[in-house]
Amino acid sequence: MLAYTYTAKGTFALVEKEQPTVLHDRDAVVRVTLASICSSDVHIKHGSVPRAVVGVTVGHEMVGIVEEVGSLVTHVKPGDRVSVNVETFCGECFFCRKGYVNNCTDENGGWALGCRIDGCLAEYVRVPFADQGLTKIPDTVSDRQALLVGDVLATGFWAAKISEITEDDTVLIIGAGPTGICTLLCVMLKNPKRIIVCEKDERRIRFVNKHYPDVLTVTPDACLALVKANSDHGGADVVLEVAGAETTFRLAWECARPNAVVTVVALYDTAQTLPLPEMYGKNLTFKTGGVDGCDCEETLRLIAEGKLNTEPLITHTYPLARVEEAYDVFEQKRDGVLKIAVECQR
Ligand SMILES: [Zn+2]
Ligand SMILES: [Zn+2]
Repeated sequence: MLAYTYTAKGTFALVEKEQPTVLHDRDAVVRVTLASICSSDVHIKHGSVPRAVVGVTVGHEMVGIVEEVGSLVTHVKPGDRVSVNVETFCGECFFCRKGYVNNCTDENGGWALGCRIDGCLAEYVRVPFADQGLTKIPDTVSDRQALLVGDVLATGFWAAKISEITEDDTVLIIGAGPTGICTLLCVMLKNPKRIIVCEKDERRIRFVNKHYPDVLTVTPDACLALVKANSDHGGADVVLEVAGAETTFRLAWECARPNAVVTVVALYDTAQTLPLPEMYGKNLTFKTGGVDGCDCEETLRLIAEGKLNTEPLITHTYPLARVEEAYDVFEQKRDGVLKIAVECQR
């Protein structure tokens, strides 16, 4: 089968590999129908994910059909259409039982697919802990509608969930990339009084204006003034930082009112400063991530009910045979790209 592979630092290549099989009683093998490309893949290519293993098939966002299951798998069976969770977790350890699946203590737990073990930019993928990692897709939800459930939508849903948003709040979201927009969709489910999205890219601002006309948009330069003018208590009640740029962590806490919640979803390339003397007395609560991706059943239900729709984020579609071209468009952010769907069956 074809598999898009991390062959050396700085290079991915489409190579022929053996089709995976069940290796453990809790595994499943999934025939990948649609996969996507994520910015974490770009981090692997550039060598900034130390745990990533050379030779691994990349890709960790996908939907497919269960091909084969191990003897201990009970929640799914061959033929089921499923979304695949980016995180591998056992479901049994202290952290899993509390819903903190990102910190699963199993040696295979955490972000494994497409990083430490073969991922989904391939025709087939082996998924460990299949009862935890696979969620059946309702019949009324298409593959394209479900494609982002396991990774970027899971992240947005988790971020909104932990941010203590109320209906009186002004919520600021910094960054309108795919994760930022998924965060926006999930924040909208909480019905806050106002939502402001800060983004530097013109095309992404236009995307937000077109699809979510009630949301205020602003560029980073004008953000602090606009937030102050549009909040009742001198700053945003909740800030979600999803950009991870050089100045956005500072912008996040500067835009927050005293006693606000600042949720940091972003992954930074460099260390950030927490200037406690400057923020003394502001009494902020910071929350930081890694997604706990264990609400996929709920997000699929919300998609089926028409309350969540990530389909407009899929701006491009390519067959697996042309994944190198697709990857280039994504990495260079050409042509207004947000997310790319890769059709993995020939
Ligand atoms: Zn990802
Ligand atoms: Zn666990």
